[in-house]
Amino acid sequence: MIPGARVVLLGRQGSGKGTQCTRLSRHFVAPHISTGDMLRAAVREGTELGRLAREIIDAGGLVGDDIMVGIVDERLQRDDAQIRGYILDGFPRTVFQAESLDRIAGDKPLHVAIDLDVPRAMVLDRLSRRRVCRDCGTNYQSTGSDPRPWLCDTCGGDVVQRDDDTPEAINRRLDLYESQTQPLIEFYGRTRRLERVDGVGTPDEVFARLTGTIEKRR
Ligand code: AMP
Repeated sequence: MIPGARVVLLGRQGSGKGTQCTRLSRHFVAPHISTGDMLRAAVREGTELGRLAREIIDAGGLVGDDIMVGIVDERLQRDDAQIRGYILDGFPRTVFQAESLDRIAGDKPLHVAIDLDVPRAMVLDRLSRRRVCRDCGTNYQSTGSDPRPWLCDTCGGDVVQRDDDTPEAINRRLDLYESQTQPLIEFYGRTRRLERVDGVGTPDEVFARLTGTIEKRR
């Protein structure tokens, strides 16, 4: 049997974290648990949580720790996570959440927290060139000589730049990420569970580094 894995993946917007989480989830047959995706689903479904989360997400704030810990606790108690582990993406965001994770993970503790490291200038460039299909969300990279009109290869929808992908907004999000994440890096460093993985390279190269690091720690 393939052993599972219990991982927290930290990484800037544009670091390729989302793509790598999907691949790691398949590789280790462990659920990819993205709190951002869970909140966006709640917003779409119009649940009570979704109504509360919507304004906070739009304002770029953080949903309260107690709510987030409750959501993740419930998710981690499900059979798939109990048996196979978890690839956590977007959680923890605060040291309180990280300490709570240690408590709720109980006898299934984290193997490793990985900081997927891509230089800021590189993600800034990637995010500035990012274009997205308005209908299905497929991502593209602008080369400077883009088709006009630009239609999505997947669904034929319009490919556009997101309103929040301007350099100012991107810089603001990256600053926020750094100030939020630094205490987590210190927390996992102090408790000797942190590994830094070089996120520069092809997706296959980065994936091989990630699996190697997880296997070494498991
Ligand atoms: P993400 O897709 O991870 O960037 O998350 C989108 C938004 O959801 C964030 O900007 C926060 O407003 C909210 N969010 C996601 N995860 C958390 C968390 N662990 N704690 C607090 N807020 C969160």
